[in-house]
Amino acid sequence: METAFDSVDRPAERLIDKCVHCGFCLPTCPTYLLWGEEMDSPRGRIYLMKAGLEDRAGMSAAFVRHFDACLGCMACVTACPSGVQYGPLIEQTRGQIERRYDRRPGDRFFRAALFALIPHPGRLRIAMAPLVVLGWLNDALVRSGMTRVLPRRIQALLQLAPKVTWASLVNRVPERTASAGSKRQTVGLLSGCVQRIAFAHVNQATINVLSAEGCEVIAPADQGCCGALSLHAGRLDEARRYARRLIEVFDRAGVDRIIVNAAGCGSSMKEYGELLAHDPEWADRAKAFSAKVRDVSEALVELGPARAVRHPIPARVVYHDACHLAHAQGVRSQPRELLKSIPGVDVVSPAESDICCGSAGIFNLVQPEPAAELGERKARHIAALEPDVIATANPGCTLQITAAAARLGHRWRILHPIELLDRSIRNEN
Ligand code: SF4
Ligand code: SF4
Repeated sequence: METAFDSVDRPAERLIDKCVHCGFCLPTCPTYLLWGEEMDSPRGRIYLMKAGLEDRAGMSAAFVRHFDACLGCMACVTACPSGVQYGPLIEQTRGQIERRYDRRPGDRFFRAALFALIPHPGRLRIAMAPLVVLGWLNDALVRSGMTRVLPRRIQALLQLAPKVTWASLVNRVPERTASAGSKRQTVGLLSGCVQRIAFAHVNQATINVLSAEGCEVIAPADQGCCGALSLHAGRLDEARRYARRLIEVFDRAGVDRIIVNAAGCGSSMKEYGELLAHDPEWADRAKAFSAKVRDVSEALVELGPARAVRHPIPARVVYHDACHLAHAQGVRSQPRELLKSIPGVDVVSPAESDICCGSAGIFNLVQPEPAAELGERKARHIAALEPDVIATANPGCTLQITAAAARLGHRWRILHPIELLDRSIRNEN
């Protein structure tokens, strides 16, 4: 059997040794919650990494399975009193798996297809075009249960497919939007991959609010993928290539801040400093880039007192914390603060708000069964609060909760917090 790790991007022993095996992280780990298996807990996975480094475990199918099952949700990082940095550990372990483990051909093909498609907006537009005319058929087939004869991963793809329109496929946000009134900052906007096609309205709402609050917004047309999916899946060299390209584009744009409205993208862009730390040509630029990255809610709170008038939206809003915002970036209070600034909005949080909804990058596509279980668990907690609207700041969470809610018979209005703020400022609800 192959050794678990070679010398390239090995998980660092000094990070592993910070774990004191206390187990405080166990109740927040979604896979431990589902299966109660030590090796599917953060503590167990860290133990396996250590065994791999010491050649007591090799790159076996069982070894890979425990790491494939991890959602990368970082709830364990929030829970850990010893400050264990699980993020780089799982990324490096996955990097080793992606480079060196020989997956079954079907699995290899499915993963390769996802990465050949999702980070490429041009290809995504073509792939999603049939959904504009056949979206209703997809919905009807999913609702009728006829798709149950298909392989589980294909069922998941159909259930999670976003709603797209011709307008969302072809519309582009403006490259430059002036600030309303005197300028407070020049900011760059990450358009995203899925975001710019299926959630173009979220990008437009982000621009509207930033502009109303005194920011000139630059959204470079030649920006590519941020590499978040690649980084979280262990495709480290690919993630580094995407990172260099994005740094180049935003350096050229000359902006004070780089604004992100998708939690997964923001968390990886804040990590560029570490991702490129060993690249002498890029290390300093990557660090400076990461220091400018802000989730849109963080950026608005940092800007100071609001300029634009907020009009009332009477609604009970369930705010769902996206893991890559709450756990990976520590951004919890700012989106709630923005929502509470809207008169009439009552912001509530569901039970188990620290537990992942099961979206987790490509997790819900490659591990559809546990993802569906977690999605429905989340949807039940949300339903208990009888929401008018659900707000969440990650496209993956939106699609995952929409699909889980539909299976339970709910049809909720799920918006990004910035969309609610935009509606409030424009006096539309
Ligand atoms: S990242 Fe999430 S799923 Fe993975 S070990 Fe930590 S808590 Fe568990
Ligand atoms: S809480 Fe931290 S130190 Fe304790 S077992 Fe989990 S990772 Fe290790």
